[in-house]
Amino acid sequence: MYHYISVPPKDADKYRLDLSVKPGDFELQIRYLVSNGYTAISLYDLYSSLAVSATLPPKPIVLTFDDGYRDAYEYAFPLLKKYGMNGTFFVISDFINSGNPAYLTWDMVKEMSASGMSIESHTRSHPDMRNRANDFLVWQILGPIEAITAYTGKTTTLLLLSLRKYDNAVIRVLKSVDTWAAVTTYPGTLHTLVDA
Ligand SMILES: [Zn+2]
Repeated sequence: MYHYISVPPKDADKYRLDLSVKPGDFELQIRYLVSNGYTAISLYDLYSSLAVSATLPPKPIVLTFDDGYRDAYEYAFPLLKKYGMNGTFFVISDFINSGNPAYLTWDMVKEMSASGMSIESHTRSHPDMRNRANDFLVWQILGPIEAITAYTGKTTTLLLLSLRKYDNAVIRVLKSVDTWAAVTTYPGTLHTLVDA
C-alpha cells in the first residue's frame, strides 16, 4: 500500500513524510520484486483466485496506490510500465474534478487505465463514512464508480474505503451497488472472501 511516490517537500509534515517513498527507492523495490520472481497481479486476479480458484502466478503481489496523487502518474506509472508490473490506483473523483495539480487528471487516469493499470474508487471526497445518511453513502460510493467507468470505459467493481472509518451502513450500500470487494487498512492473513 503506497501513497506518495515522490521526494517530500522541505516543509513536509510527519504524515507526508510517513506516506512517501522516493522514486529511486520505489524503483529498487520494484526491481527487487521482479528479480525475485514476484508478479504484480490486480485485485481482480486475487478475487478470481479466491472465488473460482483461478490460477495465479507464483509469488503474486498486489501493488496499490492511495489517493490519486499526481506523482502516481509522474513516477509510479512509468516505473511500473518499465518493469511490466500492474498497479491498482485508488482515486478520489472530486479531487480529480477540482483540477488541483496535486492530484491526477482524468486524462492521466485514462492513459494509465489504457496501459493496463487498474483504476478504482476511493470515494468521492474521502470523508469519514461513519454515521451517514443512505443518500450520502450512495453519493460517495456510486458516483465515483460511475465516473471512473465513464472515463476509462472499464467497469470498476472494487472500492477502497477510507482507513477504518466505515460502518455496517457502508457495507450495505456497497453490496447494493454490486461492489465485489472493498479494501481497508485492517491487517490480516486470512485468504477468504467472507466479508470481502
Ligand atoms: Zn486515502
